[in-house]
Amino acid sequence: MQRVLVTLAGAGHEAALVGGTLRDLLRGRVRGAGDWDVATEAHPEVVARLFPGSLWQNRFGTVTVGPDPLIEVTTYRTEGGYRDRRRPDEVRFGATLDEDLARRDFTVNAIAWVPSDPGAGRGVLRDPHGGIDDLRAGVLRAVGEPAERFAEDALRLVRAVRFAARLGLEIEPRTGEALRAAASSVTAVSGERIRDELLRMLRSDEPPWGEAPPSTGFRLLEAHGLLEALLPELAALRGVPQGKPIPGDALDHALRAVDALPPDDAYLRLAGLLHDLGKATTGAGGHFIGHEEVGAELARRVAERLRLPNDQVARIVHLVRQHMFAYTPGWTDAAVRRFVGRVGREHLDDLFALRAADELASRAHEPAAAELDELRARIGAVTHGVPLETRQLAIDGHDLQAVLGLPPSPEIGRILAALLEATIEEPSLNNRESLIGLAREIAARAS
Ligand code: ATP
Ligand code: MG
Repeated sequence: MQRVLVTLAGAGHEAALVGGTLRDLLRGRVRGAGDWDVATEAHPEVVARLFPGSLWQNRFGTVTVGPDPLIEVTTYRTEGGYRDRRRPDEVRFGATLDEDLARRDFTVNAIAWVPSDPGAGRGVLRDPHGGIDDLRAGVLRAVGEPAERFAEDALRLVRAVRFAARLGLEIEPRTGEALRAAASSVTAVSGERIRDELLRMLRSDEPPWGEAPPSTGFRLLEAHGLLEALLPELAALRGVPQGKPIPGDALDHALRAVDALPPDDAYLRLAGLLHDLGKATTGAGGHFIGHEEVGAELARRVAERLRLPNDQVARIVHLVRQHMFAYTPGWTDAAVRRFVGRVGREHLDDLFALRAADELASRAHEPAAAELDELRARIGAVTHGVPLETRQLAIDGHDLQAVLGLPPSPEIGRILAALLEATIEEPSLNNRESLIGLAREIAARAS
């Protein structure tokens, strides 16, 4: 990072350290190598030339130097209007450091360290909006007029909550009022930008940054009317009674489940957040029958609206749909194999982590993990070497066509599925001879 400041200074350009890493240093948190923000008067093409191999990819003038550590060098700028509340209509370079700090969102994010001798680590802090005092007092405050700043870019509504939660700051009253008043405008922000903020909120207690569990942010979203606007499917769980040993409604339960999942997998945490969405409409009689099916479709809607990558949409929907399995020691070995076939080996760890979090969020005490451990042990013992998908069978569709003299048809798929079922029931059948014999019987019965 010093190298970047030294190079820019050497070429005669003013440059300063800004952003989250500086803010966290001022709070006494030292991050690892990555993620430095540098602001400079030098124009992007100049910066790109000074750092061969760097990447200039957007019109906002950010040049990425890196990759390890990743340093984002952004040209001082002011921003034009924000007609759509999403992106500035125009970005003007050639601004001063103070102008650049004035367009930033919150005072604690509008502090700069300006080196006088970058090689020796000497410099001064530039803090025209009182960010250091706010940091010390534990206050999150918009730079300038809060209502205007939220009207310019509604993503700042979510950012306010994320910073307040993660940094343990109180939202200053006028900023909070403006936040509540503008909450519904957050629906104008693109799903991608919301997604990125929510994923960061879900990781809010990941070392070394945060101390607040992710539920803190979601509770703050709710308190300011943002949860209703962003995730109405989740907000609908408020007031849905749970009937669990631990007090609270279905939203409290979902938030506890999120906190109980590990911070390094934000998508799994999202699955935890969404796992009971179906309870909002299936609670008649207090049973929530079929809530995992209803919830899976609601989770899909949320995940697609947030523009999650397709594989993560599928993963979350699958986990929500499967989360209600009810293991008992009475399950036969075949039942254990059918369960693994249904869930898929690759999803077992996720599903078990989700279940453990769900249990922890349901009971007042640490759950007895004995049943899950038993299931895990049995899975290891009874699925080893056993085909759980048709393509793992000892014969395939081509074999069937040849032996039975059948053309390629759905019939082949149905026979393979029946063979798989038989093999899950009785693994010793998984050899050519037995399967071909069985296939002949099935085909004869069908015709
Ligand atoms: P983090 O620790 O999560 O990375 P950060 O403060 O570095 O927090 P970034 O989203 O990385 O946050 O943005 C870097 C800086 O750019 C912020 O500190 C802030 O000054 C400015 N910034 C980012 N997004 C906005 C925005 N939507 N409006 C105004 N300023 C912004
Ligand atoms: Mg940052």
